[in-house]
Amino acid sequence: MPERPHKPALVIFTDLDATLLDENTYSYKDAAPALAACKKAVAPIVLVSSKTFAEMVPLHSELSLISPLVAENGGGIFFPAGVTDIPKNCVRHDSSWFRLDLGTGYKRLAKALCEIQGETDIALEGFSSMDEQRVSLLTGLSLAQAKLAKLRYWDEPFVAPALSPQDRARLKKAAAARGLNITGGGRFFHLHGGSDKGRAAALLKSWYRRQNPDARFAALGDSDNDIPMLEQADFPIFVGSKGKLPESPANLAASAIPGPKGWNSEVLRLLKKCGFGV
Ligand SMILES: [Mg+2]
Repeated sequence: MPERPHKPALVIFTDLDATLLDENTYSYKDAAPALAACKKAVAPIVLVSSKTFAEMVPLHSELSLISPLVAENGGGIFFPAGVTDIPKNCVRHDSSWFRLDLGTGYKRLAKALCEIQGETDIALEGFSSMDEQRVSLLTGLSLAQAKLAKLRYWDEPFVAPALSPQDRARLKKAAAARGLNITGGGRFFHLHGGSDKGRAAALLKSWYRRQNPDARFAALGDSDNDIPMLEQADFPIFVGSKGKLPESPANLAASAIPGPKGWNSEVLRLLKKCGFGV
């Protein structure tokens, strides 16, 4: 593994789906010029996603990144074993990575989901009770990808067909009684506790500031679950805004262009603004 660059002056946190990656093709190809410019500027890119670690590692490797990554919506941070200042409370994940647990553990989440179903009598189906075929069917992922999506630590996605607003409120209440949260509501809801992308970003800011107290931070995202991360950034950027912007953070910049094309133009603009001469 290459040596980590010293004292990065600019660190870029980025969401993946519909931000660095195209929503439909999952390609980052349109962001290639800005990715190359970040490498030249020694500006680390930190991948921050709702995806699992196992789903994120191939991209981290393909992009030749040497920075930590944040999985499962901030449930945990993974540090490459090659870095010298691994936080003390990390555990060894495998031969290549250390892991910092932030969210509620998966076993507890899976058990809580069963309890919530029993208590509310609302039909729920969690990832932990699905086989790979079922996950593949519901997500459109291949069987191999579904296998990686099931390797979870801190976030239990579930479906709840035909859920009324009242039922949704009952679910949230039952989760809150256990110190847990329910977010989402598109194709999947998510049961999790004690973590979000912002908390993970805040920890990583401290980590990078130990290397360079003057380091500045950018964050790019496209969804509500990115807002806590955007709030941590000196340069928060919303990608694919479609004219409607979140109210916070106040200094939010926006690109109307979605996905990697928007990522590319915004990051090139940012590097120029920060004096990297691209
Ligand atoms: Mg996204």
